Amino acid sequence: KQKNPNEPEFHQAIEEILTSIEPVLKSNPQIVKAKVVERLVEPERQIMFRVPWVDASGELQINRGFRVQLNSAIGPYKGGLRFHPSVNLSVVKFLAFEQTFKNALTGLSIGGAKGGSDFNPKGKSDLEIMSFCQSFMTELYRHIGQHIDIPAGDLGVGEREIGYLYGQYKRISNSFEAGTLTGKGLSYGGSLARKEATGFGLLYFVNEMLKNHGHSIVGKKVVISGSGNVALYSCKKAIELGATVIAMSDSNGYVYDKNGIDFDTIHRIKEIERKRISEYVNFYPEAEYVENKRIWDLQCDIALPCAMQNDIDLKTAETLISNGCIAVGEGANMPTTNEAINLLISKNILLAPAKAANAGGVATSALEMAQNSSRMSWTFEKVDNILKDIMKNIYDESSKAANEYGQPGNYVMGANIAGFTKVANAMIAFGAV
Ligand code: NDP
Repeated sequence: KQKNPNEPEFHQAIEEILTSIEPVLKSNPQIVKAKVVERLVEPERQIMFRVPWVDASGELQINRGFRVQLNSAIGPYKGGLRFHPSVNLSVVKFLAFEQTFKNALTGLSIGGAKGGSDFNPKGKSDLEIMSFCQSFMTELYRHIGQHIDIPAGDLGVGEREIGYLYGQYKRISNSFEAGTLTGKGLSYGGSLARKEATGFGLLYFVNEMLKNHGHSIVGKKVVISGSGNVALYSCKKAIELGATVIAMSDSNGYVYDKNGIDFDTIHRIKEIERKRISEYVNFYPEAEYVENKRIWDLQCDIALPCAMQNDIDLKTAETLISNGCIAVGEGANMPTTNEAINLLISKNILLAPAKAANAGGVATSALEMAQNSSRMSWTFEKVDNILKDIMKNIYDESSKAANEYGQPGNYVMGANIAGFTKVANAMIAFGAV
């Protein structure tokens, strides 16, 4: 904290891991001797850069770009780009830190990174987005590559932005190195099922967790925060598995439909027409749009935070518990504060932690890279089946580690230990690097 003051999100992410891995450090003195933790909290490289671009009125705008290449012990750096006004070094470092252990959990050979900008894409025209993406890539391109660092999307960066970023990368590097960015469109190297992967993967994990604790997802009431990529496809899979999604949100408000949200309608509004969630009531007048109120006050069986970090604080956790919620599945990164995590676990609420439960996106990104290397395209079913296997494996590994360290059902601890151990072993093997 002394070395990196003013980085509360980064400290929070470290604290969560350190609490979980305490018993591992006690029983493995070689990890302590090799100073693995001290090395992990110092990113291998952090890049900050100026992003100048011209807005629609002809005025020059200046934003700040970031790429934190945190750890490459088990593979090339990999992690998304976030475009949101809240992006700063602390946020990017926390995301890169989380990403390192998440990527290890997938069982694939990918290290951890994250990047982005404080650029606010909301309300910007297509041309403005393109201008910004091109300027951003004009600096970023020299730091990335299919064997070096492979960025992808995150908040505010979807297929459109990846298209502009990849187009500029291709132009200035003069090579069609599709494996340098993932989340691409299908016509230029993207993978079927990538778009769906984080949300689908979240539900595969949550479903497995529920089954193993004697619950069925069928008929359960689900509330999802957010209505972006992760939220949308969590909604789709939750409905397919037999649950009822009663509410979804954006940063202005939420939609509540007691009969269950219709996926096709919400998909059309958000992904095709790029409109706000409030439009939903125009199609379903019996649904309600509620502004500036907490979605988590609604009674639900399963809560899926799929928007921003620190969405579920202590007070929200108390509300969820008193409303009878049985499980929380983290689609977003670090959506639950450490105090809220402790309370939920102490009350035996099943908690599927982000590192494990939302790893389906990055896992499928690695499958996209595999397809790019072989210049092949796999079917949706093939990618989805591999994703299912990966999520089951992540669940099993998290569960096994939690059992081994005497806290069965504590998937936060289990996922942290399983991911950390893999990275630590590789770092020890490399010696002092
Ligand atoms: P998107 O940009 O597609 O969607 C984000 C959604 O969250 C939007 O609906 C946005 O609404 C909403 N939101 C933002 N702030 C708030 C708020 N304060 N209250 C309610 N809703 C809010 O991002 P993604 O779906 O890609 O990412 C969501 C989360 O999942 C992030 O934490 C990301 O790091 C994580 N994640 C994403 C992966 C992926 O594959 N995309 C992989 C793993 C994790 P609005 O339009 O109003 O801003």
